[in-house]
This record gives sequence, C-alpha cells and structure tokens, in this order.
Amino acid sequence: MRVLLLSDIHANLPALEAVLADAEGSGVESVWVLGDIVGYGADPNAVVELLRKAGASAVLGNHDAAALGRVGTESFNPLAAEAARWTASVLGPESRAWLESLPEVRREHGVTLCHGTLREPLWEYLFTAEAARAHFALQTTGLSIVGHTHVPLLLVERGGEIEALRPKAGERLRLPSTGRACLNPGSVGQPRDGDPRAAYALLDLSEGWFELRRAAYPVSEAQRRIRAAGLPEPLALRLALGR
Ligand code: ZN
Repeated sequence: MRVLLLSDIHANLPALEAVLADAEGSGVESVWVLGDIVGYGADPNAVVELLRKAGASAVLGNHDAAALGRVGTESFNPLAAEAARWTASVLGPESRAWLESLPEVRREHGVTLCHGTLREPLWEYLFTAEAARAHFALQTTGLSIVGHTHVPLLLVERGGEIEALRPKAGERLRLPSTGRACLNPGSVGQPRDGDPRAAYALLDLSEGWFELRRAAYPVSEAQRRIRAAGLPEPLALRLALGR
C-alpha cells in the first residue's frame, strides 16, 4: 500500500495544491496527515475541504487544538497566537467539526501517527536523543510518523541505539527490516530547513520504502493571501526563506 504523507500544512493552500499535483500518478492509495493543518496560513477552510475530499486520516496538532480553543496560546510566540485567534474567527462549522473529530494519536495499517511525540503528542519536538528514546519507549508498532519540527527526518532504533538520517529529496530509503523507525516528512506549508519548497513524502508499506519529495509552489501567492487576510507580515516573509 502506498501512502501520501503530509504534515504541517498550516493553511497554505497553494503549497498543498502543488503537492497534490506533484504526487499525482504516484499510485497513492491513502493520505495521512500529521497535524498542524491550520494556523499561520490564510486558507484554513479550503485546506480542510481538500483533505476531507481526499479522505485523509489525520491527527491533531498544537495549532489545530489552539484554533479549536482546546488549548491556550500562552506557549505560542505572539505571531502564532495572533494567527491562532484569526484562524478561530474564520473556521467554518464543517472545518471545525472535522478538526474536532481528529485524535491526538491514531494507528493506520499497523503504523502509529502523532504530531509531536508519543510522550506529548501535541507539544513535544522530536529533536533530542532524550525525546527520541522516550518516543520509542512508547511506540508499540514497527513504524511511527510524526511532524511538528518542520524538518524531514528518519530515525532508526535498534537494540537501544538510535540513528538519525536526514533524507534527501528524491532518494528512496529502505525501511529497516529489523528494529523500529520513526519518520518525519517535513512541512508542506512552512518548511524550516532552508528550502522554501513544500516538503512531503511517499511511503510504500508493501515494498518497505520512504521517499522525501519537494514541490515548488507559488510562494508569492501564499504571501499575497496572508497579507490580504491581515495576518502578520513575518508569516509571509518566512515562506520565501524556508525558515
Ligand atoms: Zn507546525
């Protein structure tokens, strides 16, 4: 089974459209979304609508929870907090109901999905070895997929040792046949690894591989929409930098 992995779309419609077009013809049978569907970008309702139409299986991210008013924005920076308030004010009832239905952790075809880590699904960044060990200690499946950091990553755990690999776009990586793995497909709507192109991944569970991909999209159009919505200017500027 081949799966399209999308994370941290952040209401960036031009980026999501470019990714879906880029993935066309790749034989994708399912779409899995690792959270932060909304927040920062200008098109939360259109993004949710596209994912609903695609029959996506998704988990909740911290920005989604903030837009639903489920968590406070005290730990957000001021720009993120302002974007969360704006998102909450424009979310339509159907988008809201769909986001409300999302769990923090879900299992699909024997794979565990969550936004941050299994220790703290909404908030924790899987950046440190300590967080990775805590995550794997709670992972009961061979493979897990996370988002939240906006940086593509493949972690392989064997006998307590954890190896971190930085996948390159277009490179097909074999999933380990022994040990366990955790993947992060990077961010569709707000990449932070210095490459402004939208990041996403293909995962083939039958053949056992993972491929990171990058899709160029009209960044200026996403920026125009952010400005037209009256969202903070730095949220537009950072898209061009991939930061
Ligand atoms: Zn995010």
